[in-house]
Amino acid sequence: MPLVGTGTLVSAAAAQRCGLGAFNIIQLEHITAIVAGAEQAGTPVILQISENTVRFHRALRPLAAAVLAAAEAARVPISVHLDHATSPELVDEAITVGVPSVMYDASTLPYDENVAATAALVERCHRHGMWVEAELGEVGGKDGVHAPGARTDPEEAAVFAAATGVDGLVVAVGTSHAMLVREAVTDFSLISALRDAVPVPLVLHGSSGVCDADLMKAVASAMTKINMATHLNAAFTGSVRSALETHATSVDPRHHLKAGREAMAQETLRLLRLLRQVPAEASA
Ligand SMILES: [Zn+2]
Repeated sequence: MPLVGTGTLVSAAAAQRCGLGAFNIIQLEHITAIVAGAEQAGTPVILQISENTVRFHRALRPLAAAVLAAAEAARVPISVHLDHATSPELVDEAITVGVPSVMYDASTLPYDENVAATAALVERCHRHGMWVEAELGEVGGKDGVHAPGARTDPEEAAVFAAATGVDGLVVAVGTSHAMLVREAVTDFSLISALRDAVPVPLVLHGSSGVCDADLMKAVASAMTKINMATHLNAAFTGSVRSALETHATSVDPRHHLKAGREAMAQETLRLLRLLRQVPAEASA
């Protein structure tokens, strides 16, 4: 199936009031696991490459080529997204290699500078047909920059969306990055207020810390793109760890990578099905 743009997938999910999984990949096994899970669920998915992962591989191009090829070979609609990019040069490279969307993260800048930098980048990306997500009200926990009580103000969010021209907005509603326990206290009334104030689809970061029931409630409250990395990495790594114990003398990486990939595919399948279930109150 040809690569599908992020804007197309996000708009369709928003119209159907269901959640769209956007899951981060680090290596080839993440790609094949998430694609397998999405194909089994029969749902679209977004494969995300973070700037941190680009740094880990010391280049965007080889990984992007692999992800784009996997998306094109998949039996379900898949898009590819550059996540948490702080470098405009990296965004330019993403445009060159054909990545359809980006999350530009200027959220650590003072508000006025965030607006100016984001608006300039959005203008450049739109000229190349790229869908752009940005963040307002820093989601706590990223790289030690902690803002545990961070909340996005709906009025400020509306002004920010209009001033920058972004296509999707990451909002701070109580979640935090890299949580290993699913105990985040999500502010659903704030999500509803943001939905009423902001004309573009809302994006949830830090979803690993959100339990199943609250993920469904967040989607019912009009959260559309659901970003997740840590929770799926935990499934992958936990399974690798036990496979290494089981095959204590094996030196073939495929023994433990296969176990990790299968666990991640199963959890991808479960989450994608969950995000498609629109709770009754959403359709009321
Ligand atoms: Zn994030």
